[in-house]
Amino acid sequence: MTRRTFLLTLCFSFGLLTMGQTNPFGNALVPDMIADASIVEIDGTFYCYATTDGYGRGLDTSGPPVVWKSRDFVNWSFEGTYFPQAYNEKYWAPSKAVNYRGRWYIYPTVNGYMYPAVADSPDGPFRLIKGNTFTVENRLWERDNVHAIDTEIFIDDDGTPYAFWGSRNVVRLKPDMATIDTMYQTIRTRRTEYSEGPIFFKRRGIYYYLYTIGGDERYEYYYQMSRTSPLGPWETPEHDLVCTTNIETGVFGPGHGCVFNVNGTDDYYLAFLEYGRWSTNRQTYVNRLEFNPDGTIRQVKVDLNGVGYLHKNAKPGQLKVVAATASSEAPDLRIRHNKDERCQRTEQFVPEFAIDGQNGSRWMAADSDNGATMMIDMGHTVKIGRSEIAFVRPTAGHAYKLEASRDGLKWDRIAIHALEKRSPHVDKIGKRYRYLRVSINEGVKGIWEWKVYK
Ligand code: CA
Repeated sequence: MTRRTFLLTLCFSFGLLTMGQTNPFGNALVPDMIADASIVEIDGTFYCYATTDGYGRGLDTSGPPVVWKSRDFVNWSFEGTYFPQAYNEKYWAPSKAVNYRGRWYIYPTVNGYMYPAVADSPDGPFRLIKGNTFTVENRLWERDNVHAIDTEIFIDDDGTPYAFWGSRNVVRLKPDMATIDTMYQTIRTRRTEYSEGPIFFKRRGIYYYLYTIGGDERYEYYYQMSRTSPLGPWETPEHDLVCTTNIETGVFGPGHGCVFNVNGTDDYYLAFLEYGRWSTNRQTYVNRLEFNPDGTIRQVKVDLNGVGYLHKNAKPGQLKVVAATASSEAPDLRIRHNKDERCQRTEQFVPEFAIDGQNGSRWMAADSDNGATMMIDMGHTVKIGRSEIAFVRPTAGHAYKLEASRDGLKWDRIAIHALEKRSPHVDKIGKRYRYLRVSINEGVKGIWEWKVYK
């Protein structure tokens, strides 16, 4: 090493250390922790139903059910819940919502059992089909008292509905969408270990069945296909792996998600959860899904980058934010591996992570900070149309105060908000300012992304 390269190396290392800005979680689909995503495009809007993660209590609970929506696949939002009946239940792995004979159906796993629910709109409010409480008789199907989870719903071109669920099961449904018209079948697969999170779709006359193996950072998807029916017979391609851990791109354990396509196109995508921060603190990512001419699936070299806009940008006019500072910063979180020692990383919580355009990185205040504030700087005075803040754990709600300033000394109050459950929190401003400052009064003291628009 020459003296010059030594100095360059030193500067580079020092830069990394002082900037402290390594984001191991890339650009997640939405600015929140969600798993088991089911995505469908309805009338030009993408709907993402999922398990709400980030409540940090493992499999004992979940966050409340919300549906994230986006017109362009980059800007996502939710307001309140689509399933108020289940707001305080353990709500997991909903199917997508499907339209059948004019009504909308969804199949969540609630308190460990799958239930059929119906609504007049994909926005809800959904309610149980057979009753008003989550009791035994409302369960859609179960076998030998073993909990059945992870419903995938599929309606064939002839209008026949099918339901798939964990442990490789499939049934045909009656037109009431809530009872079974054939006995269950168990799908035989090449891989025989425990499986959950089934994905089922049809493309160019071929039915695809994707099933998981493993879990944690060893989660992966395999598949088989049928040219005949949703009930088989099945053919298993020689190369049947859809996705697995990719150390190079930092994806650990791609698991329960979905496949969807953009209406009217042959563009297919795979959504998958990522092992994330252990336990039920996962985020969801999307990659392109591609096919060979013979209909087989090309293995997805999963990454954390996101796929960008799938429709025209629905929120143009974003202004550049040049700096972010905060009242405090949480200490680094070292995330150890579970079963694969290559899967270790450290999460940092610097203020800059709230303005980096990445949904996998966030600013978090220190636990002891009882007056958590963040300030952003536009670099010069500019007319600000509105502010949009995506707080951490938005399903639990936030109360906050927003102020604005031209010089950083004198502050105008823009708004004070009582606790609301939504993301992002939007404030209209309509005046010229250089700085914005938010004070978080209730809710988790952290921000995934703070965006400002003309
Ligand atoms: Ca971020």
